[in-house]
Amino acid sequence: MAYTNEVIASARRALEEKRQAYENARESRTAEIYKVLPQVREMDQQMRTNMIRAVQQALAGGEAAIDRARMQNRTLEANREALIRATLGEAYLDQAPLCLHCGGAGYVGTQMCVCLEELCRQEQGKQLRRLAREGAFEEFDLSLFSDKVHPEFGLSPRSMMERLLKRAKSYAATFDSGSDSLLFTGDTGLGKTFLSACIAKAVAQRGFSVGYESAPHLLEKLQKAKFSDDPQDAKNAAFLAECDLLVIDDLGTEMVNQSTRSNLYVLVNDRLQGEKPTIISSNLRMQEFEQRYGRQVASRLLYAYTHYPFIGTDLRKGKI
Ligand SMILES: [Zn+2]
Repeated sequence: MAYTNEVIASARRALEEKRQAYENARESRTAEIYKVLPQVREMDQQMRTNMIRAVQQALAGGEAAIDRARMQNRTLEANREALIRATLGEAYLDQAPLCLHCGGAGYVGTQMCVCLEELCRQEQGKQLRRLAREGAFEEFDLSLFSDKVHPEFGLSPRSMMERLLKRAKSYAATFDSGSDSLLFTGDTGLGKTFLSACIAKAVAQRGFSVGYESAPHLLEKLQKAKFSDDPQDAKNAAFLAECDLLVIDDLGTEMVNQSTRSNLYVLVNDRLQGEKPTIISSNLRMQEFEQRYGRQVASRLLYAYTHYPFIGTDLRKGKI
């Protein structure tokens, strides 16, 4: 699973806070144990001394010393436990490590541990929630859409939205690497951004890595990666190419030139070939894609994406 460095950095900070809290709790437990049971402090010291001495002896050629010290310490450990349990109770015994796999380090070798991966998932969810504060399917208000039949499409914006909502929910619920790429078109304020944010959030909650960018920001990132020496810029661009689902919001609002066109083509094409679904929302009309991005990009969007036109008038201006 690929996450942005930003997500990984916040997840690592969250893990560090957990580790700190775990350590603090352990220290205050130990302090209290030593206060009530001073003999436990002596036992702890004895165990440390046993080990240090054993290591010294082992270095001098007495390999058996370590095993002997381990045995002694096991007995001391058992006595220590029994004493604490009898006097202070179970809660004062050493707790399970922060993570059974990595001990709280976040990595097993070079591999990210499941505990840190879980935190990444949570952090990504938080970021997406910030992005789309209201972006949850259940908050989608169909009554905002007019129920008057639209002359061009032969159905009302509300019934069209109802269908789109149903489709979006099932898309998010069954999302996988083989899912379609989607193209949402229509005027500003018809719920394209909202619906794509809902999908992004629901897909991320299922554990997939999700990128969500406005088109200007996305194209800026791609452009930056081309000329930058900062490895972070290359990683940002790689994430856009590799994340499980990429949402590009508001395509058509950015400045275009030869370079943005070719960057967009490479991204769209690579993701299609790698079976990485993308959702694009745009105010552009179908014929404008070709004028703006050239035939190569337009044909990918027209033939490889599933197209959903949004109809109606700007919700922010009220119903028709
Ligand atoms: Zn772990």
